[in-house]
Amino acid sequence: MQHITILGATGSIGVSTLDVLARHPQRYRVYALSAHSRVEQLAAQCIAFRPLRAVVGTAEAAGRLSALLRTAGLNTEVEYGEAALCSIASAPEVDSVMAAIVGAAGLAPTLAAARAGKKVLLANKEALVMSGQLFMDAVQESGAVLLPIDSEHNAIFQCLPSDYARVPGQSGVAKILLTASGGPFLNREVATLEAVTPEQACKHPNWSMGRKISVDSATMMNKGLEVIEAHWLFGAPADQIEVVIHPQSVIHSMVSYTDGSVLAQLGNPDMRTPIAHALAYPERIASGVGPLDLTQIATLQFQRPDFERFPCLALAFAALRAGGTAPALLNAANEVAVQAFLDLQIGFRQIDRVIAHVVDSVPHGAADSIDAVMAQDAVARQAAQRYIAELRAGQAK
Ligand code: NDP
Ligand code: MG
Repeated sequence: MQHITILGATGSIGVSTLDVLARHPQRYRVYALSAHSRVEQLAAQCIAFRPLRAVVGTAEAAGRLSALLRTAGLNTEVEYGEAALCSIASAPEVDSVMAAIVGAAGLAPTLAAARAGKKVLLANKEALVMSGQLFMDAVQESGAVLLPIDSEHNAIFQCLPSDYARVPGQSGVAKILLTASGGPFLNREVATLEAVTPEQACKHPNWSMGRKISVDSATMMNKGLEVIEAHWLFGAPADQIEVVIHPQSVIHSMVSYTDGSVLAQLGNPDMRTPIAHALAYPERIASGVGPLDLTQIATLQFQRPDFERFPCLALAFAALRAGGTAPALLNAANEVAVQAFLDLQIGFRQIDRVIAHVVDSVPHGAADSIDAVMAQDAVARQAAQRYIAELRAGQAK
């Protein structure tokens, strides 16, 4: 029996994870679940999965959750705040941690799981983008097992030789080909992008996801963050990572080898496949996802990304090449800009302007401690907020 904590249980990845777990009650037991503010949904999950512990964002939310669980006759221990998240991620009873909080808020608990030597199922790409080498060092030092949930990275992991981590550079890998759907605005007139609404941006053609990652997919910052994620997970330099637009999202990514072979992983666009893969690795279990009907799909298309249509992709490559805390600055500015877009404070085409302003104006430094990374994250957020205020006042240059 594997004991699992799900950080971000009420989100898109959290819900898909519970769906897979429910298919294998003899194999998995939920130790703890977390949410931020969706208390009723978390209560329903607790009633269904009976975890020992549940964590929410505030004392007020904890009070509401406790009352709901008491009424249901449950004695789940209810806690709140970051220290509690770190505790459910690192408790000795836990074997695996699904890291599925969105954004920088997930860094501390995901890192706690890595430091405690857990099997870390990583969906929260922002945590790795921010902390990079520090995160990978924590995994190395504790002997944690890091398995990618992001569908592209899970695909790459499946296409790499099993001894890849031990012999980088000697495995014959020529390139990592990161596929991207291109999101909802792949073929839209660039001139009309300024007027798109959050609802249009969140309407992904192939995947159903949380709102932040959906906007990231529309700007292609999601792919930019994934380039940085691939760099850290697979030790690949920026030049070895190529983005390929593949609108059908059937090939989830590929690895190209020096002998000319290209290995790809295919599947229906449903996150339960990579979730089930990582949960059971190295075994295979049913995920609830049906078989791929290639004759139904019939056509697979590929094209190069247009860096002018998607400036966020270029910004992310530049941050990776700059190194240090540059990816943390990029990530923080993006989080603030996406939220401002979702809150109707800025337009879609101002998201990349905010990010470019922050990475150009805030000097980046060495990412030699988590405190240094968090300090840069805070400075970038302030700079982004200031610039958004200027944009709104019509004063920005
Ligand atoms: P959602 O927005 O659907 O869910 C986010 C989860 O995090 C919710 O449980 C939410 O709680 C919780 N949360 C939000 N803010 C905080 C906070 N400040 N502190 C603690 N918990 C918080 O996101 P997704 O499930 O779509 O994405 C989760 C992560 O997985 C992201 O990093 C994303 O990039 C990554 N990912 C997602 C994919 C997908 O298909 N959805 C694919 C690949 C990667 P509450 O519900 O209470 O707000
Ligand atoms: Mg992805």
